[in-house]
Amino acid sequence: MIKALLATAALLLATPALAAPDRIAATRDKALKDDVAWDIVEGLTTEIGQRLAGTEAEARARDWAVAKLKALGFANVHVEPFQMDVWRRGEGSAEVISPFSQKLILAALGTSPATPPEGITAEVVGFPSLAALEAVPDGALKGKIAFVWHRMVPTQDGSGYGPFGDVRRKGPALASRKGAVAIVIRSAGTDYHRNPHVGATDFGTATPIPAAALALPDSDQLERILKRGKPVTLHLLLTPHVTPNGTSGNVVAEVPGRDPNAGVILIGGHLDSWDLGTGAIDDGAGVAIMTAAAKQIMDASRPLHTIRVVWFGAEEEGGYGGDAYGACHKAEKHYLTGESDFGADNVWKVDTRVLDPKAPAIVALKEALLPLGIEPGANKAHGGEDVGPIAKIAGVPIIDMRQNGLRYFDIHHTPDDTLDKIDPAQLRQNVAAWTTMLAVAAESTEVLGPVAGDAN
Ligand SMILES: [Zn+2]
Repeated sequence: MIKALLATAALLLATPALAAPDRIAATRDKALKDDVAWDIVEGLTTEIGQRLAGTEAEARARDWAVAKLKALGFANVHVEPFQMDVWRRGEGSAEVISPFSQKLILAALGTSPATPPEGITAEVVGFPSLAALEAVPDGALKGKIAFVWHRMVPTQDGSGYGPFGDVRRKGPALASRKGAVAIVIRSAGTDYHRNPHVGATDFGTATPIPAAALALPDSDQLERILKRGKPVTLHLLLTPHVTPNGTSGNVVAEVPGRDPNAGVILIGGHLDSWDLGTGAIDDGAGVAIMTAAAKQIMDASRPLHTIRVVWFGAEEEGGYGGDAYGACHKAEKHYLTGESDFGADNVWKVDTRVLDPKAPAIVALKEALLPLGIEPGANKAHGGEDVGPIAKIAGVPIIDMRQNGLRYFDIHHTPDDTLDKIDPAQLRQNVAAWTTMLAVAAESTEVLGPVAGDAN
């Protein structure tokens, strides 16, 4: 008898703990009635609005976040500040001078320098793709304005943003190396409103040149004008400016766990946004979803693992908040991580990045997500700009909840990124998905990592 009891005890010790399936299901279903996420994204976009990284608006948003997280009952609410050069957009305008005089709608890309005060007037050389621009010899565009008119199409998984986003991310540096005095690109977007899609570009070691994104109809217009075969002259005026040594920061809040040695579950989104809209889908929704999910768990019972929610600063300008978090917290034990930064439409697939995707905790998670319409995916989650750095440094296991991206790039980084684009029912489904993840992971003692290799 004693032998049998000892054997049972040994088995209990060896078998990782896991929350009961009915309890996970009840927590998930309660989260489908969540109002906290909507309250956060409605409040943040109404009371703060746009939150350009490093600016006074982002600072007010941090104060707002601290007050909100404390009011919701989170512990250890604080800001972890970091320094950055602050880029501000200024004005942007463009006009075809010849052969058909007319204005075009565009906006400067993040990190773009200004044109001279009188603007730049130069001949336009067009390219259908980044590869076509890359193919011309260095120096070939001396004195010209480069124009790339790639075609991005909507996809459920948003995969077009990799290659077409590269036109924005890498095109300006490439055009600079080719000798161009400026570059305009077709926005990395999929709508046909006269809205430019902005976003950061990286000049690396190239000399920065004025760079801007045209609204899609205006890009099509410029392409048609070029295809008439006559030389096209464009006048471009951009007035961005940079102030060095500004302050951004990550806002951190916790649901303290029962076991301080169990490792932190890190979830988050980014607080900063581009300045044209109010940062509702990018990424007010993300911080709202994650905070609401953590609150669901906090209200249910005290979790085994500490749940840490981070509203990251300055993601858009180059992932400064994620880098700062990784550098600051790399020595700390992290059990699992995930971020929400792809709008507020339904989650349709869950990807993991764990040692063993067949581990009981991961199987339990995938089963509990099925009633939300979420299918099991691959073991190749990558996190994102915010949790990616800590995941990469420390081999932290990752969960990605893949959201429907079919309309995301209609809105992303445009003046149209506003609250009305968020469907409250789909927002709740996101909260339920992440709550389910936390309900499983926060009670799990299963070893999920470290996972080696580059998380991104
Ligand atoms: Zn984002």
